[in-house]
Amino acid sequence: MMKVIILGSTGTIGQNTIQVLKRLDGYRIVGLAAYRDHRRLADQIRKLKPAYAVLIDAKGNLRAVNHGTRILTGENGLTRMIRASQADILIAALSSTTGLNAVCAAIELGMRVCLATKELLVSFGDIIMSLVRRHQTELVPVDSEHSAIFQCLQGESREFIRTVYLTASGGPFLNKNMKKVSKAEVLNHPVWKMGPKITVDSATMMNKGLEVIEAHHLFDLPPEKIKVVIHPEAICHSLVQFEDGSIKAQFSYPDMKLPIQYALTLPKRLTAPIPYIDMQHFQNLTFLAPDFNKFPCLKLAYSALKIGKSMPLVLNAANSTAVKLFLEDIITFNDIPLIIESVMNRHKPIDGSIQDYCEVEKWANQQVMKIIKNKTKDMA
Ligand code: MG
Repeated sequence: MMKVIILGSTGTIGQNTIQVLKRLDGYRIVGLAAYRDHRRLADQIRKLKPAYAVLIDAKGNLRAVNHGTRILTGENGLTRMIRASQADILIAALSSTTGLNAVCAAIELGMRVCLATKELLVSFGDIIMSLVRRHQTELVPVDSEHSAIFQCLQGESREFIRTVYLTASGGPFLNKNMKKVSKAEVLNHPVWKMGPKITVDSATMMNKGLEVIEAHHLFDLPPEKIKVVIHPEAICHSLVQFEDGSIKAQFSYPDMKLPIQYALTLPKRLTAPIPYIDMQHFQNLTFLAPDFNKFPCLKLAYSALKIGKSMPLVLNAANSTAVKLFLEDIITFNDIPLIIESVMNRHKPIDGSIQDYCEVEKWANQQVMKIIKNKTKDMA
């Protein structure tokens, strides 16, 4: 029996993971964690009866829901659950960098860590990857593009990789003017149904930029070997070109249940959790270069990666705060890259510990607020 913990069980990835696990024999959910959706978490506890559940931002009362479930709170609760659970697999799908310490604990304990939170690798990639190497932990990507690359690399060796192509649907603005963009347009992604933060990131293409940084850490590749390719049909989830000129790619309908199932069952490929593709059905498949001028966030992500050290963390923190302010109608869509760039310009990158990096994260968030304050003052 494989014991599974899901961090972020009430989000899109978490709910998909629960659906995938329902179809699989030999797996049991022993722990669930949510940030603040206590109603949905209570419902999951009632149905799944895990040994542990964590509500990070403790507001709801879950103790009476199921007497067999030990309820913990706060980020400390995550680490305590992981240490006590004796789980085999951790699904890390909390948004932002919440759960960093919990993921580090799971790596140290040698659990298979299935990573769905790209922000963790973007901000703390050097620290996490050195821990993974030290403990020889299995780190499996759940992000669809990285799962595709991971699958293409089975049986291959890294030294023969020439280029990795991360596919991007292009988001809602691929063929549209972006002078004046409404929130409704931004939140209407043509392919994937996801949470609001990642949907905004897809519209700015920062999501792809973060994925470039994620790929750098996961596959130990320099920025010049990682390229982005626009592929609006969204059935090819990434490609790897090798030194001999061969390209391997992974195709499937865009549905997170497939990369989630693969991460849980690899190297086995069990019956599809989604419909099969009939390749006779596709007349045209498009692959195009991205427009870096139209999507400056992509350019910023590459430059943060090239600078390295704490710069990707600053990029990610400034972006997260800017996206939040956009969703609250405080800034416009086109302000997002401008704000990120000006925070990056103010930052002198450092190498440091998790604690040092958390300080930098706070600093970056404060800088965003400062920029907004000055901007509203100028306009008044
Ligand atoms: Mg992705």
